[in-house]
Amino acid sequence: MQSPLESLEQWDDFVGSRYQEGRTEENFRDYSTAPAGVREFYRLNHTHQTREFARAKKQEYGSLNRRQMSIWEGLEYLDTLVDDSDPDTDLSQIEHNLQTAEALRRDGQPRWMILTGLIHDLGKVLWLYGEPQWAVVGDTFPVGCAWSQRIVFSEFFRDNPDAAVPEYQTRHGVYEPNCGLSKTDMSWGHDEYLYQITRDYLPEPAQYIIRYHSFYPQHRENAYTHLMDSKDHEMFEWVKKFNPYDLYSKGHAKPDAKALRPYYEELISEFFPDKVRF
Ligand code: FE
Ligand code: FE
Repeated sequence: MQSPLESLEQWDDFVGSRYQEGRTEENFRDYSTAPAGVREFYRLNHTHQTREFARAKKQEYGSLNRRQMSIWEGLEYLDTLVDDSDPDTDLSQIEHNLQTAEALRRDGQPRWMILTGLIHDLGKVLWLYGEPQWAVVGDTFPVGCAWSQRIVFSEFFRDNPDAAVPEYQTRHGVYEPNCGLSKTDMSWGHDEYLYQITRDYLPEPAQYIIRYHSFYPQHRENAYTHLMDSKDHEMFEWVKKFNPYDLYSKGHAKPDAKALRPYYEELISEFFPDKVRF
């Protein structure tokens, strides 16, 4: 069973429940109430996300020759992703992205950050290409070095083939201490893919938000500080600032995509050309 999650959103919801506002540090790491599908999802993710896999996918998708679309077309394409869940209570992909963006806009955040909110999950189109759930979503982590025990369900790494590679099992693994995250390979998913697509068009803080928004082991758990350089530390302030908008903007009213489209089309055109390579 390669699709244990009811929908990709189930992973987002699980992360949101883990880091619910008001919960203590301690119960951030209490996963006892995780649904069986979520548990199985992490088992697959931790078993199959090897260094070799992550590098091969980065190579494969990094050529950006899948399709050419405008950013808004990309959002509509992502919206064709149909969940099994109840359409009346759940938000479509476009609505989640718009809610994040609208929350940033209400708070008067910079325009590039509002745009980042709008597109941050666009990399989930990987699912439409037929990638398994465990290679699209999930908390991300560096590959090629020891897995932190602060990664959710870290016990599932025992079946990862990299566990048998001694070179990958030291604290720094194949990396130099504080080499900077750009020199590391992260587990493969929607973050890295969208970073590859958008890197030429957005300011650096936006690139960091997109590339590391699922890197909970660092931006929430500080488990990989030993691989970060001073630039990473500076930029992670933005990643941390963004995270609550991703996690907690859900409760708000359903955004009206049609009414909001002109505003966002204009914002998109400030940064992106008409067609972008995916
Ligand atoms: Fe995401
Ligand atoms: Fe998101």
